[in-house]
Amino acid sequence: MPSPPAGLCDSCRHQQVVRTKRSTFSLCRRWKDDERYPRYPRLPVLRCRGYERRADAADDPEART
Ligand code: SF4
Repeated sequence: MPSPPAGLCDSCRHQQVVRTKRSTFSLCRRWKDDERYPRYPRLPVLRCRGYERRADAADDPEART
């Protein structure tokens, strides 16, 4: 079953997709160094100051602060 869209995280270089047998999670790697970012943000993320587009991201969402 496909996972629901994670919004900005899906094209952000700080996202790490974590897959288990039953689910897929979108982890934000910024949580390790900055307490303002939750390890597992509430999805979909529509606005994020920490967003940085991945070089290979297919779409071009606007990062809003
Ligand atoms: S920095 Fe923001 S957009 Fe990027 S993965 Fe973390 S929560 Fe998602």
